[in-house]
Parts: sequence; structure tokens; C-alpha cells
Amino acid sequence: MSNSVRPNLLGLSPAKLAALFAEMSEQPFRANQLRRWVHQRGVLDFAAMTDMSKPLRERLARETLLEPPQLASRHDSADGCIKWIIGTASGSAVEMVYIAEGARGTLCVSSQAGCALDCSFCATGKQGFDSNLSATEIIGQMWLARRELDSFEGGQGPPVTNVVFMGMGEPLLNFANVMDAIDLLLDDHAYGLSKRRVTISTAGVVPGIARMGGRTDVALAISLHAPNDSLRDELVPLNRKYPIAVLLDAVRGYFAGLGEKREPLIEYTLIRGVNDHRQHARQLAALLRDFPCKINLIPFNEFDEVDYRRPSATSVSNFRNILREHGHVVMVRVTRADEIAAACGQLTGAVRDQTRRRQRHLRRVEGAIPACSI
Ligand code: SAH
Repeated sequence: MSNSVRPNLLGLSPAKLAALFAEMSEQPFRANQLRRWVHQRGVLDFAAMTDMSKPLRERLARETLLEPPQLASRHDSADGCIKWIIGTASGSAVEMVYIAEGARGTLCVSSQAGCALDCSFCATGKQGFDSNLSATEIIGQMWLARRELDSFEGGQGPPVTNVVFMGMGEPLLNFANVMDAIDLLLDDHAYGLSKRRVTISTAGVVPGIARMGGRTDVALAISLHAPNDSLRDELVPLNRKYPIAVLLDAVRGYFAGLGEKREPLIEYTLIRGVNDHRQHARQLAALLRDFPCKINLIPFNEFDEVDYRRPSATSVSNFRNILREHGHVVMVRVTRADEIAAACGQLTGAVRDQTRRRQRHLRRVEGAIPACSI
């Protein structure tokens, strides 16, 4: 095989790696061994994989690759969050954020360079869309985080216990690659995370939610942000295509198909004077009355390109209290890593100059990952 077609094994799902090994007339358990080296021990050098035969190791080194994405920079926040910027094959930069919370460590990963959905309050959306990340670029974020944190097997660093697709991009618009990466996150020979600790967050790509059923059973978060269609049409333009009732139906369908009692997380970014009135809280409470879920309120994280402001702490807690009085389970996401622009909706990366919107934002914007605190 020539160099240009050597497959990069890092991003191959368990099924795809098994298929490749079958093609090479190798036993399926060899593929499991390889994933343990790569994803559990962080080893990329075939020569070091000593439980595999020398001829196999030499063949893999000749015919395949193990290459993580390029790490461009690292930013540590005072509250213990870490943001990394990663170069993509398309020439853009995306961001991922690690959030330590006691025994829990959450990695917020990106699925696309930029985003096509153009939600009015999201910094990533302002960049426009560049490209889908490959499965290697998605799982590569987990691999790089584990290496950077020194938390591969035997390492002394903090663990990554949860992964949320709440970085740049719309995961359900990069369905196949996101699913391949999820297969590795859940695989016992790779990262072995429980399905409840991996969360896809979507702005409401209804066909994607329908496709998730039968393909995966990970946790699902919905970026709702408004209690009625006219307001949501403004904030999340995708709503014009898939209005709230259709979206909530798709979510019901996904959870009904899981065959066990689980529920979605509803994300609601609170923007001063836009969607944070008491009336909105009451309307939201009514909308979700017979819709089992947890509600996560995210006080808006400010950034340059828009005039939206964060509501006062009082109006955030008023909003929360109204929902609670109606019997809802509500959390307020604590903003973290704001000073390194790593909070929800602040992740921007540096998307290749390729979109019409980019004309308005020629300056390089560093860091476009939602202000994170899960
Ligand atoms: N496209 C997916 C993944 C992004 S998740 C989705 O929309 O769900 C990032 C979360 O942060 C989403 O709920 C998003 O709406 C929210 N968010 C975006 N910009 C924000 C901002 N400036 N302040 C607070 N939250 C924001």
C-alpha cells in the first residue's frame, strides 16, 4: 500500500478495525489487543505492542498509521479547566475543554470545525461552517486529553469520566463519524465509558435523533433555549425546519426506544431581556409539563460579536424557582473557564476562511467552545 492510503487506525471503530484485521487474515482478538494498546495505554508505536507477533507488528507499521491530531495550544484556567486547540486536516482549528469537578472529569469535545446552524447567541455559529471532523479527529480529542492529563493506564493524572458533545459543531450533522467515535468511547477494549456518561447535545436535528435510535443509547441533551416557536425561530434558526413539537416528539421516540427509564437534558441558555422573563419560565414549565426531563439553565456567556447580555443572578434564580415550583428538576450551570474563553458558546477555534459569514469576521478568533460547566 502506498503512504497516502495507509489507514489511520486511531479512529477506526471496533467494527471497522475488526473488518480490517479480517481482511488482513488476522484473528479478531488481535484488533481488541491493538485498541487496548492505543486507547487504554496510549501507545502508538507498533513495536512496543509486545503481545502481538513481530511479523504482525511490522506489517501494521508498514501498511497502517496511528496518528493523533495536532495539538496547537493549551490554556489553563484558574478554576482548573483546560482548553486545548487542535489543528484539523482541513486547516481549521477546533477546541476541546476538560472540566474537573471532584472525582468527575468531563471532556467537552467538538464534532465539526465551525457550525452551519447559526444560532444567534453562539460564538461558534458566527464562524460559519468549515468541515466535519473525521472519526480520528473526534476520538483523537479523547486520546490527546488522556495523554495531556497523564491519565492513560498507569498514569497519575485525573480521569476523564464523562464526554459531552458540547464543543464546536452539531454532532448529529456529522452522524457517522460521531457514532464511530462513540463506539470507541463505549468499547471495553478502548475507553469503556458507560452510555450514561456520554452525551450528545443537539440543536434539534430531528432526522439525526431518529437515526440515533437503534444505533446508540447514549445520553441526549436538547438545546431548547425558548418556550415557543416564534422566539426559538429567532434564536435557533433550525427551529423553522423542525419546530418544538416535532423536536419533542423525536426526543420522546428516542427515549421510548431505549426500553428503560431515562430522560433527556433540556439546555436553556438565559439571555437578558430575550428569553429570561418570568412569563418564559411559566411557558417553559407548561411546555415540559408531561415531558420527563432535567432542565439545565446556562447563563449566557458573553462574546464580542453580539449584544446579548447575561441576566442578573437574581433573574436566573427567579427563573429557576418558577420551574421548580412547577415540579421540574432544574440545575444552573456554573460558568467556568470564562477567562480562557472556554465557557459554553465561546468556543470558536479558527475556522478556515471559507464561508460567506467569514467575510464579516476576518480576524482570527481564538477559542470557540461553549463555556463549559456541565
Ligand atoms: N450544536 C450542539 C452542540 C453545542 S452544545 C447544540 O446546539 O446542542 C453547546 C451548548 O451551549 C448548547 O446548548 C448551546 O446552545 C449553548 N451555548 C451556545 N452559545 C452559548 C453562549 N454564548 N452562552 C451560553 N450557552 C451557549
